Amino acid sequence: MAKYIFVTGGVTSSLGKGIISASLAKLLQARGLTVTIQKFDPYINVDPGTLNPYEHGECFVTEDGAETDLDLGHYERFLNIFTTQANNVTTGKIYQTVINKEREGAYLGKTVQVIPHITDEIKRRMKLLGNNGYDIVITEIGGTVGDIESLPFIEAVRQLQWELPDEDCLVVHLTLVPYLKAAKELKTKPTQHSVKLMSENGVHPDIIVCRTERPLSPEIRRKIALFCNVKQEAVIEAADAPTIYEVPLAMMREKLDVICLKKLNITQFKEPDLTAWKEFLDKLKYPKSKVNIGLIGKYIELQDAYKSILEAFVHAGAINECKVEVINIHSEFITPENVEEKMASLDALLVAPGFGHRGIDGKITAVKYARERGLPFFGICLGMQMAVIEFARNILGLANAHSTEMNPDTPYPVIDLMEEQKKITDKGGTMRLGSYDCEILPNSLASKIYGKEGITERHRHRWEFNNSYLADFEKAGMVASGKNPESTLVEIIEIPGHPFFIGVQYHPELKSTVENPHPIFVHFIKAAKEYAEKKNAVKNPLLQSEMI
Ligand code: GLN
Repeated sequence: MAKYIFVTGGVTSSLGKGIISASLAKLLQARGLTVTIQKFDPYINVDPGTLNPYEHGECFVTEDGAETDLDLGHYERFLNIFTTQANNVTTGKIYQTVINKEREGAYLGKTVQVIPHITDEIKRRMKLLGNNGYDIVITEIGGTVGDIESLPFIEAVRQLQWELPDEDCLVVHLTLVPYLKAAKELKTKPTQHSVKLMSENGVHPDIIVCRTERPLSPEIRRKIALFCNVKQEAVIEAADAPTIYEVPLAMMREKLDVICLKKLNITQFKEPDLTAWKEFLDKLKYPKSKVNIGLIGKYIELQDAYKSILEAFVHAGAINECKVEVINIHSEFITPENVEEKMASLDALLVAPGFGHRGIDGKITAVKYARERGLPFFGICLGMQMAVIEFARNILGLANAHSTEMNPDTPYPVIDLMEEQKKITDKGGTMRLGSYDCEILPNSLASKIYGKEGITERHRHRWEFNNSYLADFEKAGMVASGKNPESTLVEIIEIPGHPFFIGVQYHPELKSTVENPHPIFVHFIKAAKEYAEKKNAVKNPLLQSEMI
């Protein structure tokens, strides 16, 4: 029988519920328990696949092809597990199920209502993963307590708290304890109000996790405990951390896991084994070298739009004992005139995934620079497609070669809509999504990186390399080094004569975790390090002669 932990948020959004949930899960996992995390989002979109990054940051894709909230990325990176369709539920999904059932006549003439029909469906989904043999299912409730739209979720938690045995259910409430400079004091009132709001909805938190810029004094902890009706040991300090990967250790120091185990009456557990995690943190904190990686995209002002890519850099940097400084470069403002200046400080270049035509010319210009200068290049999805277009235009001489996504009338559609996409009109959940097989060409850069011939990677796209041009590309020096064995879709391209030039149609960033950094990112950082060393040697001839 699984036990359930619910994580709610109060006072404001962006307190890091996802990281707290993932950190708690990590600690319980390190104690030998099997844990999974799911996220319940109160918005009406069926999934975040149709939301643009300004609205919702990155869309994280699972192995089984669900387009989900970016918090699922944190869960996977922390726990080194795969999540599934079932791990992200939205109000849209809940209503869709209930309305479909109503149309089937499943409610036998009853009036269909928020309570009990919507809340029953929420509860059913909250308990779904509990049937899969996990010891603990953590459920993060999106939004902030008090939002109208999250009310049915809070009500479902209330009902489960009432239905389940006391020791099978636990509520953690994450709140903000702000520091008021003028008063020189931490303030507990917002927390008191947010717990009061929850109590009005019938839910009583067992543990209060306080985000704070300053340490919580015993007096503050006592005050929060008294007014929020929890034990003092259940008031947890979550101070701002230099990296999200420190949070599990901070939560361990605060004994968050121990308090949960006690409340859930779990007696079978071991001392937490976080050896690999701590080794990773050590390498992250004390790098021996540094590289500048240019991230070319059109959402670079948004931290969350390229979340998984940025985290994959952190993992790959740590294993290389190298600090990865990401230089965000807006693709819309790159021109042939300024590209040299914009790229001068870089040791490698990553062209990001994306949709639509904005910033396309800048991306193509950046790829050309990397190809011609021997600058390590890594293109992901749209980034790979840009590399193909650049090669077609500048090496194959196919003027105005393009993707039919940006120019449906291009004379040379080197990137074209996939056959099975041509009949599709609905936008939601209809891309080529999830994990697909890829066969790697022996003796290629890809085979050196992966060290095996068969891999699987996750996808999210509609367009593909147009195979009718493949022979021309290969003759001219761009090779397809990874293909889907069934459809022969090109999944990886590379330029063998270049120090490091690789483009992938899939999203490797989605599979990089702390304990399993993605091999392409690892090799990419390695190539950037080598590039930086050579650049410095040229800058410093004395060093160069010493090296000789
Ligand atoms: N827009 C491109 C396509 O749909 C690339 C998608 C992406 O980068 N994820 O094929």
